[in-house]
Amino acid sequence: MQRDELALTHVGENQSEYLNAVTPPVFLTSLHIFDSMEGYQNHKEDGAYVYGREGNPTVEILEKKVAALEQGCKAVAFSSGMAAASAAILSVCRAKSHIICMRDVYGPVKGILNGYFIPRMEMRVSYWDGKDLDELESLICEDTDLILLESPATFVFSAVDIRGVTRIAGKRGIRTYIDNTYCTPLYQKPLEMGVDIVMHTMSKYIGGHSDIIGGILVVNDEELGKTLYENIRPWFGGILGPMEAWLAIRGLRTLNLRVEKHQQTAFAVAEYLEKHPKVEKVYYSGLPTHPQAELIRSQQSGHTGLMSFTVHGGAETAIKLVNQLKVFEIGCSWGGFESLALCPLVNASQEELDFLHLGEKGRGLIRIHCGLEGSEVLLEDLEQALKQI
Ligand SMILES: *Cc1c(COP(=O)(O)O)cnc(C)c1O
Repeated sequence: MQRDELALTHVGENQSEYLNAVTPPVFLTSLHIFDSMEGYQNHKEDGAYVYGREGNPTVEILEKKVAALEQGCKAVAFSSGMAAASAAILSVCRAKSHIICMRDVYGPVKGILNGYFIPRMEMRVSYWDGKDLDELESLICEDTDLILLESPATFVFSAVDIRGVTRIAGKRGIRTYIDNTYCTPLYQKPLEMGVDIVMHTMSKYIGGHSDIIGGILVVNDEELGKTLYENIRPWFGGILGPMEAWLAIRGLRTLNLRVEKHQQTAFAVAEYLEKHPKVEKVYYSGLPTHPQAELIRSQQSGHTGLMSFTVHGGAETAIKLVNQLKVFEIGCSWGGFESLALCPLVNASQEELDFLHLGEKGRGLIRIHCGLEGSEVLLEDLEQALKQI
């Protein structure tokens, strides 16, 4: 992992460019000025910064680090994960494009497809369960331009066969996109498995301290990188702010240490829950009992702090349990220092539960994020709460 650790700590930084300060400054500037008109005219060839909506030196340090971690040629940072996800779709698709989307991708991505790209851009979307590759092939048509993936996806942590999908898509020139937020750039390298666009929500583990919103795309295709950097991002205007970039750089410095700890704690918690008589089922990508354990081992080198489980007694009991937790706070995000719990589907419509193939059980799904408090504290908290249901 030596190379990853170097990216986290040093790649992209050049202290002599900023008075040998060991940490880079937050370049809080909206523009860069020139000594001469000739300098301005040649800014593109010189690679000079011009205006903050197009590029920023602090943002670029972050982009170089994440590109190195993902083994990509270009990373482009956005003001949120959703800004990054929508930029990825805009960079590949056109009006009337056909998109194949995994059923359990992050909800708002389905929101923008169903609420915007389908009705306003006349795109068509086929939802896929993410498991059957023959079914995936049968969904492909002449207009298919993009396949949207997330692995593992964050409700029941189902994984998709990344190499299997890119083999099918590659043959037909269809672009693939994956949300790699759960694994972080350390535990899964989708570009190496043939994916075209990797997305990270930096609000989660990369930021790691629950203090920023940001997203980033990484590609290994010069042309696609150029489209994103020179066209899509400045046109739609969603660049990450320099302060957020600086905080993400700081987050990256300890990313390896943090995810290792999240993983260690999550294993202890998942094993504890799996043995508990009041717990019905545990969903965690690291468990040997995961139905796709072999596939997961073949494409993921680690696991992080997020999992879900159900208890006997359904949604009512699940809510009672979450309310009894003291260290786990109630909240919807994850990836920060703090442990969180939530029933994310408690208000889901029957239609949505059926769509996710979870049925009524989904309503009582408890999702927990194991933060950095240590397993002892979290196990005690779960123990006292489980006693009360
Ligand atoms: C939070 C999240 C997003 C959205 O990121 P934002 O920065 O909130 O826009 C996308 N994908 C996954 C898996 C997430 O958890």
